[in-house]
Amino acid sequence: MHRTKRLIFLLFVAATMPASAWAQAGIQYDKIEIRTDKVAPNLYMLSGSENVDPGHPDGAGGRIGILAGPDGIFMVDSQYLQIGDKVLAAIRRIDPGPIRFLVNTHIHGDHTAGNATFAKLGAVLLAREELREGMLRPPAAAATSATAPARDPARLPVVTYGMGDPVRFRMNGETVELIPVRAAHTGGDTIIRFVNADVIMIGDFYRNFGYPFIDTNNGGSLKGALEGLELTMKIAGPNTKLVPGHGTYINRTDIIPYRDMMLAVQNRVQQLIAQGRTLQEVLAAKVTAPYDAQVPGGLLPAGAAGTSADRFVSMIYSQLKGSQ
Ligand SMILES: [Zn+2]
Repeated sequence: MHRTKRLIFLLFVAATMPASAWAQAGIQYDKIEIRTDKVAPNLYMLSGSENVDPGHPDGAGGRIGILAGPDGIFMVDSQYLQIGDKVLAAIRRIDPGPIRFLVNTHIHGDHTAGNATFAKLGAVLLAREELREGMLRPPAAAATSATAPARDPARLPVVTYGMGDPVRFRMNGETVELIPVRAAHTGGDTIIRFVNADVIMIGDFYRNFGYPFIDTNNGGSLKGALEGLELTMKIAGPNTKLVPGHGTYINRTDIIPYRDMMLAVQNRVQQLIAQGRTLQEVLAAKVTAPYDAQVPGGLLPAGAAGTSADRFVSMIYSQLKGSQ
């Protein structure tokens, strides 16, 4: 598009954007504080403050994991680029040692935008090959500033892996397994299991704030998300602490009603598709209504697609239509 035309187009888009979309862009980075939570003797979870990130009112950005000890630091996800100094300060309060490895659970900017900061401090970046490929593609038009990957080449994973056996790290008395998940929240998801601590960081294919978000623009799939949930329930023991990228910790029994809700909504949408209903008609049918009271944030705005419920139902509709 010609530059002037493009500017006029952007101004038009801005003028017609709903207030909720403006709020989406308004992350108050200066107000984000990092909370540190010790989940095992040498394993910590770092999360951002509430109510300063409109896309994640329950806690700014994606959760970070820190395995500390004499062998150096193993880190999971890197949060927003803009708060790198705060994340680093929080890590330094835990351990002064070198940050040796950083793995990304998935591509979204709230989990990867800070990659370059830690790579420049010497961390080796690891992720799925699909994640690296996704970072090299130009951001999708629909991506918000929060989900668009930063462009610094240092953000790119150096070591990549595909589906197959987990990649294992032995350090600080822990065995860390990077377990690839078939296209779920995105096309390049990994869950990270800390075997001795009995903790699994499961990324974003499960969430307990808002309805499931499956990013089909970045290779995610409904079928894969359901498979990812089954895999998590299979790997987890009864006491395993499951740590989502956002929201509260869960254990494997919490996944059952979540999966059942997904299946029930999927079945309802399938019935409506069989009756020849359009997407607009399916959205108007409010198929998530039986669950809305139990899903915090489910009816809050979630970008251009409308509410989190609308985004979820639209995704199911397009995935089911696409597989017909
Ligand atoms: Zn996230």
